[in-house]
Amino acid sequence: MKILVINAGSSSLKYQLLNSDNGDVLAKGLCERIGIDGHLKHTPNNGKEVFNEDVAMPTHAEAIEKVLELLVSADHGVISSAKEIDAVGHRVVHGGEKFASSVMIDEQVMDAIRECIPLAPLHNPANIIGIEACRKVMPGVPMVAVFDTAFHQTMPPKAYIYPLPYEYYEEDKVRRYGFHGTSHRFVTQEAAKMLGKPIEEVKLISCHLGNGSSVAAVDGGKSVDTSMGFTPLAGVAMGTRCGDLDPAILEYLMNKHGLTMSEMQTVLNKKSGVQGISGVSSDFRDLDATAAEGNPRSRLALDVFCYGVSKYIGAYAAAMGGVDAVIFTAGVGENGPDTRALICEKLGFMGIALDAEANKARGKAVDATAAGAKVKTLIIPTNEELMIAMDTAAIVAGK
Ligand code: ADP
Repeated sequence: MKILVINAGSSSLKYQLLNSDNGDVLAKGLCERIGIDGHLKHTPNNGKEVFNEDVAMPTHAEAIEKVLELLVSADHGVISSAKEIDAVGHRVVHGGEKFASSVMIDEQVMDAIRECIPLAPLHNPANIIGIEACRKVMPGVPMVAVFDTAFHQTMPPKAYIYPLPYEYYEEDKVRRYGFHGTSHRFVTQEAAKMLGKPIEEVKLISCHLGNGSSVAAVDGGKSVDTSMGFTPLAGVAMGTRCGDLDPAILEYLMNKHGLTMSEMQTVLNKKSGVQGISGVSSDFRDLDATAAEGNPRSRLALDVFCYGVSKYIGAYAAAMGGVDAVIFTAGVGENGPDTRALICEKLGFMGIALDAEANKARGKAVDATAAGAKVKTLIIPTNEELMIAMDTAAIVAGK
């Protein structure tokens, strides 16, 4: 099936047209500055010309219209008619406790996604706008919602309940939800294939390390714990996000520096993580380069990050009573040999050891396990778009 995968942000819209049967990407692109002026970069994968121009996009509907026009155009197109698009798969960030899997979108589902807005006030409204725009421009085409949180709905209460008064969970829905679920699901399925075992029989720790990072414990194909929490601010240190902190730090700093809650949130989300520690960059390539030149704070930022991921790996092996493989994925996980090496450095005691040569891999699926190591270390490129396309195709086919 030909599936259009949509990832809508408040002023942007990423898309891919995929063949869900073989994973081929027919075209992909990015609409930016929607509602401001508008720019669209569209890359067909059939040798036709790239389109990279300013296009007026007052709303997401004009963006989708233009994308459809390009997908069928003589100069940049990859299909002959929009009717060839069998279905649309939408990335939706928060499904709350309502969605434990992907679903066909109808009015009830739209209402439920709207009800989750308070849990993801920046993301869900943008995702809803993307869905509404597609429904307007492509009436009658089946649409599926794929949630970042859904995969983690299998966590047991002991993993998702915070030690707060219980009514905050019952009445306010404050609990661990976890994110990056589509990525963790994809790479753990791929890992089981690489291990040559049914996913039901393996214990995996998936490290999605990018700008945002999360670690997940996946036992028998089910997420049993993950490092992100009520929001994607929790867990390991990230590019600019702080990860886990002593919550008392907030009041202390807000009082000392006269910060409002919203200013404090900006510090935690945009000025912390490896950017905050290093003062250099949130980009791991910059940190690797400056640490190699001897910048002590870049070194420290990398140390804090890797130490944090290492500790989660140890914790999740304990949570599952063992681990068969550790997976590295996303920008840093796929492309950062030094980061992977540092994370694994102290894990030899639990049977994790990297093969130095295989660990040089960047951006491809590799078994990087050292000879004789009990636990496998796998580098697996994530592909959230393909996972969304496969879910969408399966739901449309009624499987
Ligand atoms: P996002 O969370 O935005 O999807 P990505 O998964 O694309 O992020 O990861 C972005 C991160 O990946 C950046 O910090 C970038 O430095 C890092 N990265 C990309 N390529 C390399 C590389 N070759 N070496 C080290 N880090 C890399």
